[in-house]
Amino acid sequence: MLCLICTDRDVGYTYACDRCVDDTRRRLRELEQYALVLTLTAGPLRAGTSRRAPGYTSRSPARDDVVVMLDVRSAGGASVHRLHDPRDADEQPYRSILGSLAGIADWIREEQQVTRPSGPPQLVREVGYLLGQLAWCAQQQWIDELADDIRELHAQARQLAGDAPPRPLGTCIVVGCTGTVYPVQLRTVEGIHDGARCSICHRTYDGLDLVRLRVAQEAS
Ligand SMILES: [Zn+2]
Ligand SMILES: [Zn+2]
Repeated sequence: MLCLICTDRDVGYTYACDRCVDDTRRRLRELEQYALVLTLTAGPLRAGTSRRAPGYTSRSPARDDVVVMLDVRSAGGASVHRLHDPRDADEQPYRSILGSLAGIADWIREEQQVTRPSGPPQLVREVGYLLGQLAWCAQQQWIDELADDIRELHAQARQLAGDAPPRPLGTCIVVGCTGTVYPVQLRTVEGIHDGARCSICHRTYDGLDLVRLRVAQEAS
């Protein structure tokens, strides 16, 4: 029997090969990182608008998409199958990372007759649950749909994050801060450009600061 995802490698009695399961696992982990990067990207842009003159409401479409992807309510479906319903195609071009992953996780919990934890979904918990269930999912006939869903979410997040893998640049140089610095798009009076931001203290890194950050990493 061939892997349902790559339709290439033989998988014996399951439905997905190890390599495809590993790819899905990597994408899930990166989605967690992308969500962090997108949060850092959306944050300063929102704050920056307050400095503008009242009435100036021009916002880049990319920024709105970031907000959608971070909004748990724009889930785009509560089951793997519904997410693939073509009727949903033009509803909302971008899906929420947390909402979609929580939807997939809930669907798997239903299949396994496990009750979902109380409280609002949390990214770390949903990703952790999905990572733990992937091996079981690989034994289900719908593993290819699940893998497609995660691949699609990952591609969207990657594109919105500037098409770069979420590589941390290093540890924040602020004294006492242990945050990790990620590349983000910064908006200043000169426009939008590449920069970086700490995940904990939210210090921005720009121009010479980026050089200082690199020097600090090499020295440590
Ligand atoms: Zn495969
Ligand atoms: Zn910091």
